[in-house]
Amino acid sequence: MFQGPLTESILKRAVDNGLLEIHLHDIRSFSEARHRQVDDKPYGGGAGMLMQVEPIVRGIEEISGKCLPAGKAGKVVGGKSARNIQKPHCIYLSAAGKRLTQTKVERLGKKEWILLLCGHYEGIDQRIIDGWIDEEISIGEYVLTGGELPAMVLVDAVARHIPSVLGKEASAHLDSFSKAFGRKREYPQYTRPEEFRSMRVPDVLLSGDHRKIEEWRKSKLL
Ligand code: SAM
Repeated sequence: MFQGPLTESILKRAVDNGLLEIHLHDIRSFSEARHRQVDDKPYGGGAGMLMQVEPIVRGIEEISGKCLPAGKAGKVVGGKSARNIQKPHCIYLSAAGKRLTQTKVERLGKKEWILLLCGHYEGIDQRIIDGWIDEEISIGEYVLTGGELPAMVLVDAVARHIPSVLGKEASAHLDSFSKAFGRKREYPQYTRPEEFRSMRVPDVLLSGDHRKIEEWRKSKLL
């Protein structure tokens, strides 16, 4: 599922340039059940299946150790920027979690290492959340079939805040919901031609008067 969004365009370049590392893990590979089962019926009854505590906790604990390069326990590879990291910030993608916002994205952009847990079926055993999850994040008030799409949304949004990922031209600090925009939506933007089917670019943007342009843009933030 992760092929495409994480292996194309800006994210691909970020990975190729060593600005971002993404490791994918199949939860089934942490199951010790005969058929690599990771789900079971909920106690108390009810529809659907729940993901079990054992394989997920085994996964979180193994990944937290195994992702570290051999002989460098407590450090992450990353050239000059390598710093001590004790454990990843563990996020469970959950419809019931706190809504993902630009402020939260900016905060997550400063984390060195994030572990994203994608649920399936009816979700996961609460003990995983109580014992191993630092925060539950929802990408909106609707329910998807699994946490993979939310995880990709989060990785994409957060990666834009890693220094150098967007290149010199673009800046995540001057986009909708940025602090510089007072957390408001961006102003309208135009490029050539000046007129398209009698729809004209606002005169102020062609005026060359930077002060007026700034004022106009500020007035259009929503
Ligand atoms: N029973 C759960 C509930 O009512 O909140 C829904 C489970 S959903 C079918 C399966 C998985 O999809 C969840 O464990 C979660 O990882 C993911 N998921 C679904 N909607 C999501 C959302 N809006 N944001 C983040 N993750 C979501």
